[in-house]
Amino acid sequence: MRLIDTHCHYNMDPLWSDWRQHWAKAQAHGLESSVIAGADKTSCERGLAIAEQEPHLFPALGFHPEVYDQRVTELMSAGLDVATLKTEAEKLLAQDLAWMIDQSKTHRIIAVGETGLDYYYFKPEEAALNALKTSVQKTAFIAQIGLANQLKLPLIIHTRDTGEAAYRDALELLKLHYNFAKPFVFHCASGPLDFIAEAISLGGYVGFDGNLTYKKNDLLVELFTAVPTNRILLETDAPFLPPQEFRGKTCEPWMMSLTANYIQTRLATDPELCTTNAKTFFDL
Ligand SMILES: [Zn+2]
Repeated sequence: MRLIDTHCHYNMDPLWSDWRQHWAKAQAHGLESSVIAGADKTSCERGLAIAEQEPHLFPALGFHPEVYDQRVTELMSAGLDVATLKTEAEKLLAQDLAWMIDQSKTHRIIAVGETGLDYYYFKPEEAALNALKTSVQKTAFIAQIGLANQLKLPLIIHTRDTGEAAYRDALELLKLHYNFAKPFVFHCASGPLDFIAEAISLGGYVGFDGNLTYKKNDLLVELFTAVPTNRILLETDAPFLPPQEFRGKTCEPWMMSLTANYIQTRLATDPELCTTNAKTFFDL
């Protein structure tokens, strides 16, 4: 079985220190290439460093929404008022973008991401703070959608919420700002069924991870079934989301073979079709 992991983090601990061994093991389990998603400056730099040494590991550059939440928290603790805080956050975002554009001039970048919206950890009693974080996350997402347009690269989107708002907002911003010249993926499938359906109708792909194999997986199986076979991507998101038999442990990139086996034996889907999809998506 030949597989492509379309979203993993050799650029994060604990994989980073032993990334060569993890990659060797992944190859022994059928992985022919993998996409290393960036989530902040450090992980992006590491992804670029790995790709310089291993031509089958492709770097994507992006800043995860949690980076912007963290900045809001830091700027708030510095005592800034809301208007000043937003201005400062925009200055930092401009630096992120300028840095990514700079890197794209000297490195082969395969996609922009992961970027997106994440309201998962918002506390209901912190409405004002949530509004501020949402606003800063949205500005950063719009900017990275623009970067994908500018660099003519596919877009890797992270969206997570306990409710539906992040999913609705992500689709709205995508429709307003993405030029759809290249494909986009909602990585790590979640969200309401009609959100997934609309993403598909816009030409989107959906990424599935080890959590598809969990015992309580009815919702994910429902989403998987709703996605046409030619729009499914497989990913590990390693070191996160290990498949069922390794729950509670570090997810290692080789474990994508377990998710691949699962979709073959339990969901009647040929994993190699996902490999073909990944090649189409990333133009490999
Ligand atoms: Zn990720």
